[in-house]
Amino acid sequence: MRIFTASLATETNTFSPMYTDVHSFYQSFYAPPGQHPATPTLCSAPLIACREFAAMDASLQVIEGSCAWAEPGGLLNRHSYELLRDEILQQLQQAMPVQAVLLGLHGAMVAQGYDDCEGDLLSRVRAITGPEVIIGATLDPHSHLTPQRLAASDLLIAFKEFPHLDFMQRARELVQLALLAVRGEIKPVMSSFDCRMIDVLPTSHEPMKSFISKIRELEQQGAALSISVIHGFMAGDVSDMGTKLLVITDNKPAEGEALAQALGMELFSFRGKTLPQFNDINTALDLAQQVAGTVVLADVWDNPGGGVAGDGTLILHSIIARKLTGVAVGTIWDPMAVKLCFAAGEGAVIALRFGGKSGATAGAPIDKTATVRCLAAGAVQQFADSSVPMGDCALIEFDGIEVILNSNRCQSFDPSLFRALGIAPQQRKLLLVKSTNHFYQGFAPLAAKVIYVDAGAPYPSDPTRNKYTKLRRPLWPITPRPFD
Ligand SMILES: [Zn+2]
Repeated sequence: MRIFTASLATETNTFSPMYTDVHSFYQSFYAPPGQHPATPTLCSAPLIACREFAAMDASLQVIEGSCAWAEPGGLLNRHSYELLRDEILQQLQQAMPVQAVLLGLHGAMVAQGYDDCEGDLLSRVRAITGPEVIIGATLDPHSHLTPQRLAASDLLIAFKEFPHLDFMQRARELVQLALLAVRGEIKPVMSSFDCRMIDVLPTSHEPMKSFISKIRELEQQGAALSISVIHGFMAGDVSDMGTKLLVITDNKPAEGEALAQALGMELFSFRGKTLPQFNDINTALDLAQQVAGTVVLADVWDNPGGGVAGDGTLILHSIIARKLTGVAVGTIWDPMAVKLCFAAGEGAVIALRFGGKSGATAGAPIDKTATVRCLAAGAVQQFADSSVPMGDCALIEFDGIEVILNSNRCQSFDPSLFRALGIAPQQRKLLLVKSTNHFYQGFAPLAAKVIYVDAGAPYPSDPTRNKYTKLRRPLWPITPRPFD
């Protein structure tokens, strides 16, 4: 049996000025055939899962295609998308005949002229393979589920957890179900339900935590081969944006549709109730100052994982104004400032302008006389089984505040980002990170308190105010009663 696997993924915030091109992929993650490291990345996990299955089964031959991931950003350059897409399609053409094509996708990639990149890619894969080959993919739940994707593929499986710590498990499920389908032991049929809502749905908190447990139990009881919650991605202005339920049954479409609808309406009843308490900056800092022990402040809307720059300074300006000390910030994206720190060298005291350069809404740049405490070329942080490149990083210090400046945009996943620059995070009073919820599992164990801060910018976090031009369906909260 021959399986082709590859990965092409990014998450496109169509409102973001951080335009994406092929170099964004080369900088974040790019592995041509045979060069994928032994550790998975969020979206290339199917390749690693294929290797695992092949290691246990000599009759299974895996043909590896290219894997590419770009940090979430703005609209993808058309030529860059076509270049990366066609690279994979050519590899597939050369690999034929295969019995399955398993891709690691994100599902919210938008390029100039392509509102549904994944639908386009899957359709072109189908055109090469013909109708008999099993086509499957893993998806990030922050994706758009389009009819074109459903029509072109047999198996779509989204990560269940947000934080997405289960990406390897979902990739193994994909391979396992694909092998069963190729052998004719199952006939997967996908059924979906449009929940007509868009919200942020962390599964580390209730009610989503219990909802995901319930879905796992349903799978274990055999109610379906796979159940995915597509959370949707509100920063993507495309017609299929929104929350959806996806059920894969063993050729029981009516049962699948009924289950998708029942679960979908249950999820709809959670709308507006899924987020932990978000605080404005002053409330958050008041709360933080009352806590003994390490406080983790999450700047939820300056999260590069949502496609924004990650160079916002709104919260740090308030921290400076309050003269707080024992503060470590991880991270602020500023490749220009990093270059200057590297040129000055460790120990140098320099006048530095950093942060706040990418847009008008996320705070002004900060000017300080700072000491360059640590320089790390090609620093990485961990996220579950994967290593996330932060690029060259500089740790600067001023007024009892340490700031890690990074040159690869990336969200704050894990305390290892502080250790990479020589900071013991549990020894600081206040850790400021940029992440909506992926930070939670890693940081909660060392925090006396986790405080979510809504600084109001720059992520388009309020769907009722976002200027959608392509959305035609009624969708809560834009339409208060979308099912009427
Ligand atoms: Zn996601």
